[in-house]
Amino acid sequence: MNADQEMRWSVEELRLTFKSGKTRSVGWRKTQLRAILRLIHENEDTLFQLLKSELGKHPVESYRNEIGVVKKSADRALNCIEKWMSPKKGRLPLVFFPASRKVLPEPLGVVLIIGSWNFPISLTLDPLIGAISAGNTVVLKPSELSPNCASFLANILPSYLDPKAVKVIEGGREVSNQLLQYKWDKIFFTGSTKVGKIVMAAAANNLTPVTLELGGKCPAIFDFLSNSDLKVAAKRVASGKWGPCAGQACIGIDYILVEQKFASTLIEQLKKTIKKFYGDDAKNLKNLLKIINKGHFDRLRSFLEDPAVANCIVYGGSFDDTRLIIEPTILLDPPLDAEIMTEEIFGPLLPIITMDKIEESIEFINSKPKPLALYAFTKSENFKKRILAETSSGSVTFNDTMIQFLCDDLPFGGVGQSGIGRYHGKYSFDTFSHEKAVLERSFYFELEPRHPPWSNFKLQF
Ligand code: NAD
Repeated sequence: MNADQEMRWSVEELRLTFKSGKTRSVGWRKTQLRAILRLIHENEDTLFQLLKSELGKHPVESYRNEIGVVKKSADRALNCIEKWMSPKKGRLPLVFFPASRKVLPEPLGVVLIIGSWNFPISLTLDPLIGAISAGNTVVLKPSELSPNCASFLANILPSYLDPKAVKVIEGGREVSNQLLQYKWDKIFFTGSTKVGKIVMAAAANNLTPVTLELGGKCPAIFDFLSNSDLKVAAKRVASGKWGPCAGQACIGIDYILVEQKFASTLIEQLKKTIKKFYGDDAKNLKNLLKIINKGHFDRLRSFLEDPAVANCIVYGGSFDDTRLIIEPTILLDPPLDAEIMTEEIFGPLLPIITMDKIEESIEFINSKPKPLALYAFTKSENFKKRILAETSSGSVTFNDTMIQFLCDDLPFGGVGQSGIGRYHGKYSFDTFSHEKAVLERSFYFELEPRHPPWSNFKLQF
C-alpha cells in the first residue's frame, strides 16, 4: 500500500469504527483516558529526554507546560465524563405542556487534529483528550518541526490507545494539505493565522466546523506600580516572555505599552531580572531555549537588521548562529510600521512602546487585530473595567502572564484573527460535541386552536 492508499484506508477505518458505535460508550472513553494517563506515567522520563533533546526544554518546563497539562486534562476528563455526557434537562414554558426537553451531547464523528511544534505533546494530546472524551475517532497530525516528538506519538499511541479509533499521521504541509482534502466532522487546528485561513478554506468545501487556535501579537499594558510590585511584575514578564520556548509561545507577550515617564524604571527592572534568570554572559546564557530552526532564526534577525529598529535596542541583541540562540532583547519605541511591530514576533525580542497616558493603550490595542491574550499590570479597578469593556481579546490576565493557559475552568481560544472556538476542561468536550436539542411531547392533551381552520378567535392563542 502506498502512502496515499494508507491515508485513505486509515480515514475509512476510523469512519467504520465510529459507525460501529463503540466510541460512544462511557467505558470505551474512560479506557482511552486511562491509557493516556498510563502512557504519560510510563514514558515520563523518555518525554523529558525527548523535549530536552529536541527543543531544549528543562524538565521543570516540560512538566509544567506539557506532561503536567496532559495529566491534569486526562484526570479531569475521567472524573467529569459522566456528568459532561449526561443530558441537560430543564423546564419548558407552559405553552408546550405536556412535554419535556433535554440537550443531549453527541460525538461529531471523525475529527482531524493538526498540531504545532512549540508544545508538541500538550498541543496534540490535550485536544485529543477532548475528542476522545466526546466519543470521536481521531487523526492526529503533529508538526514536522518537532519530528522526534511526532515520531514518538506515532509509535507509542497505537500501543496504548484503540488503534482503530486513534491514528497518528506524520508529515509536513503536503501531508496536511492531503488530509484537508478529506471530509471531516471537525478540524481542530493549532498554528499560524496564515495557515488557519488555508485550513478554514478547505473545511468550507464540506461545511466542516473548525476550531482554530491561532497566534498574533499579545500586548501587555504596564500601569504604574510600587517598587515591590514592579519587581514581581518584572519576574512574571520575564518568565512569560523568555521562559516558555524563548518567546515562541502563542500567548507570550509580544510588546509592552507603558507611560513614557516610567519606561526607564521598567527597563532597568527587566534588565536586572533577565540577568538573574538567564545570566548576563551573552555567549553562555542559561535556561534559554533555541529558536526552532534557521528559517525562524533568520526571520527574527531580519527584524533587528532594519537600521531604524537596531537603533532602538536597549538590551541584548546578540545572536549565536551555531546554537540558534538569541539573547533576550529589549527595544524602546521601534517604528510602528517596522515588521517587528506589524508581524507576530514569536521569539525573544520585546519592544516597549511608550505613550503619554496609559489610557491611550486601549486605543493602540484596538487599532490592531484582536489578540489571543491581553495582559495588564495595574492596580486601578477603574482601568481594569475599561480594559474589559473597551477591548476584545481571547483572554485578559491582570498582573500575571501565561497562567490562564493552565486554568481548565477558563475557555482557551482566540477571537477575530487570533482564532475561532475554544477548549480546555469541559470546553474541550463541548468543542468536540454536538448539542442535540431533544423535545418530547405526550399525547395526553391537545390544544386544538393550534390547528386550522383559522378564525379570528384563534388569534388569541
Ligand atoms: P504553522 O501554521 O506553520 O504550522 C502548524 C501546523 O500546520 C503544522 O502541523 C504544519 O505541518 C501545518 N502546516 C504548515 N503549513 C501548512 C500549509 N500550507 N497547509 C496546511 N498545513 C500546513 O505554525 P507553527 O510554526 O507550528 O506555530 C507557530 C504559530 O502557531 C504562531 O503563529 C503561534 O502563535 C501559533 N500557535 C498558536 C497556539 C494556540 O494555542 N493558539 C499554540 C501554538 C502556536
